[in-house]
Amino acid sequence: MADNDTTEFSADNVDTNITFADLGLDDRLLRGLAKLNFTKPTPVQAKSIPLALAGKDILAKARTGSGKTAAFMLPLIHKILAAKDALPTNSPETTATRGLVLVPTVELAGQVTAFTNNILLFCGRAVNVLNIAGKQNDKVQQPLLATQPDIIVATPSRILAQLKINAVDLKTHFQTLVIDEADLVCNYDYQEDVKELLTFLPKIYQSFLMSATLGDDVDSLKQLVLRSPAVLKMEDKTMDSSWDNLKQLYTVCTETDKYLILYVLLKLKLLKGKCIIFVNDIERCYRLKLFLEQFSIPSVVLNSELPLNSRVHIVEEFNKGKYDYMIATDESGLKGEKEEGEKEEDESIKVIKEGEEEDGDEQDEGEDDKEEEGEEDNIPEGEIEMELDGLDGEDLDGSEDEMEVMMRASDNDEDEDEATALEEMGEKSTTSSKKRKQPEEDAKSESTTNATGSTKSKKKLGPKKDQEYGVSRGIDFVNVAAVVNFDFPPTAKSYTHRVGRTARGGQMGTSLSFVVTAEQKEKALKASQIAGGGGWAHLQGNDEAVFNRVMKQQTAAGCIINPYTIPMQQLAGFRYRMDDAMRAITKSSIREARLKELKAEMLNSEKLRAHFEDKPKDLEFLRHDKTLHPTRVQPHMKHVPEYMMPRVQAVSTEKVGETSLGLGPVTYKKKPQNSVRKARQNKGKGAHGGGKKNDPLKKFSFGGGNKNGKRQKTA
Ligand code: AMP
Repeated sequence: MADNDTTEFSADNVDTNITFADLGLDDRLLRGLAKLNFTKPTPVQAKSIPLALAGKDILAKARTGSGKTAAFMLPLIHKILAAKDALPTNSPETTATRGLVLVPTVELAGQVTAFTNNILLFCGRAVNVLNIAGKQNDKVQQPLLATQPDIIVATPSRILAQLKINAVDLKTHFQTLVIDEADLVCNYDYQEDVKELLTFLPKIYQSFLMSATLGDDVDSLKQLVLRSPAVLKMEDKTMDSSWDNLKQLYTVCTETDKYLILYVLLKLKLLKGKCIIFVNDIERCYRLKLFLEQFSIPSVVLNSELPLNSRVHIVEEFNKGKYDYMIATDESGLKGEKEEGEKEEDESIKVIKEGEEEDGDEQDEGEDDKEEEGEEDNIPEGEIEMELDGLDGEDLDGSEDEMEVMMRASDNDEDEDEATALEEMGEKSTTSSKKRKQPEEDAKSESTTNATGSTKSKKKLGPKKDQEYGVSRGIDFVNVAAVVNFDFPPTAKSYTHRVGRTARGGQMGTSLSFVVTAEQKEKALKASQIAGGGGWAHLQGNDEAVFNRVMKQQTAAGCIINPYTIPMQQLAGFRYRMDDAMRAITKSSIREARLKELKAEMLNSEKLRAHFEDKPKDLEFLRHDKTLHPTRVQPHMKHVPEYMMPRVQAVSTEKVGETSLGLGPVTYKKKPQNSVRKARQNKGKGAHGGGKKNDPLKKFSFGGGNKNGKRQKTA
């Protein structure tokens, strides 16, 4: 399709007084918008809606947070309402799929669907939306598709599969195609799927292409789907993540020190507000959760192995402020966004930030070179031990016997017993899943070579990771005060996307990245050998190369990543607690935690299915941050006695330039000896909830940077 007849618009000439009513939208939609408290359209909405209602194809450079979902969804629904209103009420033509929204990830599909349902509140039964991005089996999806939902939200591969088996008709009354996060659709290699699914659409329909960047990939999609589009280039500062508001910090440390530092920062509230902590694989996600929970620091995990409904609900609840700390597994950098090491030198240095990314993506490449060396067995971290093929979170019905096998596996503490039980589980899941799954999704066998070189055949065990999971982009995280790169991202690009989860919507934000250098790793390995081989020094790779690349990019863009210096000797008193907590975490306990979480989330997922379908408001009780190993939580670790208080700078969100490094040095009033003694005596009481009055943390205060001079509290 030709696209030479394009008209460009920018946000500069948007009428700021315009209201939704001025845009000529259906009354039912206006009521829905009022219910959502959307008083005025955002620039992308103000520009795109009138053009869309006039029938133009739209190409919008707009990112998550700009209000782009409503920008395409409102005209899409308006057109459906108009088409149906023009038909006699009992006309069979009222039942037809008229809109298709393609998204790159299941998370985004959930978000778009939830938002659409909110707008549809006053449309009654006139319009409905079906999300088929999740991996429900066909037996569930096909009857739903047979009802011909007005709008379908899907990933390209999922809808293509259904089109190929004629489970859905998009030819007869089809009106609108949307490709949301088009650049990410390209990153996920969906172009071929898109090309093929276009053959199932009629000749004439309206198209929207929404993208954070307008690079070459998007250009080819544009050629395929748009006709004489209106091009909207939105650089809306008010709803955009502003890098001026982002304070970037890094600290060079060892693998074990990461745990120590994070524990202190969270426990002493030196890192305040809602925080996303990124790790690079699922196993590490649970390792960190188990570590923190021993200090009574609750956190919620988000990863590709959890059922979709749970993931969507977790993000919703995190956005509502129900949880402070989310440990998110970001696998994006490992699957499609890896940069070439060789490219490092000649790479055109330019900061890439969401909404202002360079046009033309960095080249994908590479293998995940992260290897676990010499842990209890030779299983790559996060891979085999829980690759429970056939136990896909969405496919499982959570039947008692399935659970029993799972939990039997988790009850065994010996690795060997566990392996046997897990294999049984694999066996079981393979059998049970055969009833439900397509042949190509059946459990596979895998050959692995062990340390002695012998090859053994291993069943892949565990729930499959969702290949369409994506958390560092697309998802609209709200009010995130800080992002912690607990594991340094594998690419500069994923660094950019991760830190872009904070400092959004005009708010201040901080990112803190832990960087393990070769020197730090070497030092830690030596120390652990001297101490008898314990420690987790071997668990992390060397972050230097990517860190240097990130530094180059940010510097070239005029952004500074400041060092955050922590006098480690100040944390000496915390180290024995950290060692204690670390000793309690073994591969077995992590495996057990994963199984427990999975079981709980599968049950949650069932309840949530009803929630998402019927929208009852009674699921507030459903929590995702429950303690996974309550027996291992040590009550005395919940509190920090005054004598342990370190002098450590808080990680502040002050504007870059105001202070170079967060807050000034920590000070606390030195108490007379006898009160310190009293505080110690009261420690036990405090741990059991009786010592509120004597909690030393209440008396802890910062000097210098704490603007209010207020005392800090901990849980
Ligand atoms: P999106 O860019 O579609 O992901 O939307 C980002 C956020 O902005 C979502 O939380 C929407 O609910 C919100 N939003 C969208 N349009 C408006 C509006 N006109 N007024 C206020 N909030 C909006």
